[in-house]
Amino acid sequence: MDYEERELILELFPGTSPDLLPLGEILYYRNEEGQVVIAEKGPPELRLVLEALPGHVGGPQVCEACRRHLSGSALGFFRHPVGGKETHLRYLVLCQDTASCASHAEPERLREILLRGILT
Ligand SMILES: [Zn+2]
Repeated sequence: MDYEERELILELFPGTSPDLLPLGEILYYRNEEGQVVIAEKGPPELRLVLEALPGHVGGPQVCEACRRHLSGSALGFFRHPVGGKETHLRYLVLCQDTASCASHAEPERLREILLRGILT
């Protein structure tokens, strides 16, 4: 359903900004290299890859994806380029356990993080 709506809108209004499209299926997982991937199924398929930084967070904080308060050892720092520019990096605190985080995170929130990384 979402897929068809997105397709239709893009057909009628090519170049519509992704944040105005109906929410597509959101994927949020760790890949084999340990990077975190947030993707929204298309068209157009949107994808953001976050690099995990070594170590834990110093004290209890809120995960920016699932918004749970967790101890520092359950959280880590991640970063991604903003607007595709490797010189402009954004840092996020996220759960180390991406699968658990994914089961608690709202798809709308994940899309927000995704779009902030890819839109200029
Ligand atoms: Zn989380």
